[in-house]
Order: sequence, then C-alpha cells, then structure tokens
Amino acid sequence: MDARTTIPYGRQSISEEDIQAVVEVLRSDWLTQGPVVPAFEQAVASQCKAQYAIAMNSATSALHVACLALELGPGDLLWTSPVTFVASANCARYCGADVDFVDIDPTTANLSVDKLAKKLHQARRTGRLPKIVVPVHFGGLPCDMAAIHALSKEFGFRIIEDASHAIGASYQSERVGNGRYSDITIFSFHPVKIITSAEGGMALTNNAQLANRMQRLRSHGITRDPALMTHVPDGPWYYQQIELGFNYRMTELQAALGLSQLSRLSTFVLRRRELAQRYDTLLSGLPLTLPGRSAEADSAWHLYVIRLDPKTCQINHSQVFARLLDARVGVNLHYIPVHLQPYYRELGFKAGDFPQAETYYSQAISLPLYPDLKDTEQDYIAHCMAEAVQ
Ligand SMILES: *Cc1c(COP(=O)(O)O)cnc(C)c1O
Repeated sequence: MDARTTIPYGRQSISEEDIQAVVEVLRSDWLTQGPVVPAFEQAVASQCKAQYAIAMNSATSALHVACLALELGPGDLLWTSPVTFVASANCARYCGADVDFVDIDPTTANLSVDKLAKKLHQARRTGRLPKIVVPVHFGGLPCDMAAIHALSKEFGFRIIEDASHAIGASYQSERVGNGRYSDITIFSFHPVKIITSAEGGMALTNNAQLANRMQRLRSHGITRDPALMTHVPDGPWYYQQIELGFNYRMTELQAALGLSQLSRLSTFVLRRRELAQRYDTLLSGLPLTLPGRSAEADSAWHLYVIRLDPKTCQINHSQVFARLLDARVGVNLHYIPVHLQPYYRELGFKAGDFPQAETYYSQAISLPLYPDLKDTEQDYIAHCMAEAVQ
C-alpha cells in the first residue's frame, strides 16, 4: 500500500456508466426539471416499496420540508438522538420549533427506545410532548421502528426516519423507506453515504397529501393545480404561489448519477457487509467493542465504529486516534454529540445531559469503510489498530 496517501474513512465509488449517465444529461435538453429526477424518484420508491418519493438538493432540505409538511412550527418540539449529524436536529430550528434529545442505547448508538418511553411518560406529565420524533438509523442500522411506532400511537407524535445512512438496509426483512412504521423517511446521497448524487436527498412517504406538500415546498410553494388556486387560471402560463416554499430541487445531472448508482446499491451494501465481517474477524481480541447488531435488522453499513474499552485498553482515545492518523488511516468520529455544539449549548444544553452519548463520544472511532476499500488496505488498517492500542 502507498504510504503517502491517507485511506479515507468513506468515499464514493464511480463507474464509467455513472459518468456516461451524467454526460448524457449534459447533452440533453434538460439540466433541471426534466425526466431524470422523476425516474430516479420512481426507482427509489419502487425499490423501497414506498408510494411516493420526492428528490431534493440534500437530505437537510428534505428533513426541513418533511417537518414543514408535518406542520412543525413555533412552540412545537422535535426529539432526536444526540449521536447524529446536526441536520437531524436543525430541521426543527428552521421551523422555529424546539429540539430535545433522547439518549442512545450504547450497544447500537441508536436512540434508546426505553429512554424514549420514559421521557414520553415524563413529558406527558409536564405537558411538553414532542410533535415529531426523528429516529436516526445510526451507521445504517435500523432503529427498533415497531416499538417507536407503538409509542407514537400512544403519545400522538409523528415519525420522520433519518435514514441518511440506511438506504439498502432492512428491518423485519423489509426495506428501510417502505414507511410501515413512519410518516416520512429521508435518504442522503452525499458522497460518503451508501449511494451518491454528489449532493442530494430524498423524502419517501405513503401519504399523498404529505407528498404533494413536500413537492410544492421544494419548489417555492408554487402549484399548477387549478383545484388549489384561489380562482380559475388566467391562461396556460398560469401558476400560483400558495405558500412560502424554497428552491430545494435536485438537478438532472445529480439524478442521473443517483439513478445510475442505484443499480449498484445491493452490490455496495454486500461489499460493505463483507468488509464489516472482515473487520469483526481482524479486530477480535483487541481491547475494543465492535459494532452492535440487531436481530431484527440488516445494516447498510455506512459506518464501522469501534469503541475503545477503557477497562482493558491502556492507551487513551486521542492517542489511538493520533496514531492511526499518523499511519495514514483516515479515521473519523461520528458524531460529536449534537447537544454539546455551541449553538445547542446556547439554547440551554450542557455536558452531562446525555451521558451515554458523551461516553460514546469519548470512546468511538470510525474506521474506513467503503465499497472500493481493498482487503489489503483493510488488513493494513487492522494491523495499525492492533499497534495503536498496544
Ligand atoms: C449526512 C447526514 C444528513 C445530511 O445529509 P445531506 O444530504 O448532506 O444534507 C442528515 N442526517 C444524517 C444522520 C446524516 O448522516
């Protein structure tokens, strides 16, 4: 292996077919608002067995529009996991709503369903129940959606699955995105995620009203449907802006890349799973806790996160991290607990609020994982890890 280049923690896998697909769009009549975005939407919806899919320029935009479609506004509350990318929480702030967090289950790093139930009972007593809960399928491993869904019926909240890591994952033998246990599911197509459109995201739902609303909000709040207008159209050119929306549209180039990538989704996930199993074997016996599994779910393996075992590991977290970076192993840390970000501290959160998330943060390291990672590179990473913890 080339000692001069750092192995990244994640990266896209681009084929000649992907390049051809994008070039074809460049030679076509439509760079945006053409036929490829709907084709990509339909392909994702049909693979995931969802009724509707709405492509956007990012998962962040999709989360925002999903919250608006579910009528989240000032005075409302959204709960999510503290171990996630900031976007899972920021979507509530865009709507003027408040955020709170539910601490994680340390074996999966997913939001703990027990803690969710306890917090809901408490919130009912204080009259501050959430309007929306956003479970994040951390690292690609689906949360216990049946249990979260049952709680949503008992406590009257809506569910947006942040499945940014989890396209291609399954839960109870069904594909994530089918919406059996949620109102809306969000995918991200950022280059480090499972499939990419460069920037891009998608919202899936089985609810026609939510789908229409999200479609409208991604494009300025404009409609061409006469049934929704205040008066009959002035002519064939006519449209009406009936609410305040955004330009969150995905381009045809992005959709062409995404659609081409989608045909390799199962290959990508299989390779990621194979690499995860290889890591399990290569790292066994080291003073580390390896990623947790779930009996009910198959992860898409966006991330392979190990935790240092403070009881048996003599070297501290920052030292291990530094040693791996020195060896040009591009490790990373997913995530800095969101409530500890200055923006959220400013809103009143503080260290100690979510102890499992904070302990996790002091131990976690994401190892390189992506379909094009070679076995020999992975052997080298495992070797460096063994050296680093000694
Ligand atoms: C990447 C990511 C997002 C945001 O995705 P973008 O497409 O970059 O906006 C949101 N939530 C989680 C959990 C993510 O990992």
